Amino acid sequence: MIYDNENIFAKILRSEIPCEKIFEDEYIFSFKDINPKTKIHILIIPKKPYIDILDFLENADADYQSNFWISINKLVLQLDLKNKGFQIKSNKGKEGGQEVFHFHLHLLSDS
Ligand code: AMP
Repeated sequence: MIYDNENIFAKILRSEIPCEKIFEDEYIFSFKDINPKTKIHILIIPKKPYIDILDFLENADADYQSNFWISINKLVLQLDLKNKGFQIKSNKGKEGGQEVFHFHLHLLSDS
């Protein structure tokens, strides 16, 4: 599978379609899921084009991977979720429930 530049999250990253932005830095972009499953349902995407979690793990360099998680920590602190509960989930592949083929994490919380 080749990364499709026209996927919906690529368009969000290029500001071609709107979103409710929550957080952005050099490494990640984060916005509200349009169809929230929990009180807080935020999507976190790398700014670089990876298809899914395995593409990211196999092809992003170690610096980028570590900065990606450092940025997620900043987002969690900004949302005041440090002392509350949350889930991070990633669907991989059509059979894993993935619908958008730009790697993303779902950050979910009912607190
Ligand atoms: P997945 O099934 O893991 O690929 O998740 C894709 C997620 O993207 C779903 O939870 C959708 O509700 C969400 N989604 C699709 N289009 C948009 C959009 N334009 N803005 C925000 N979230 C979206």
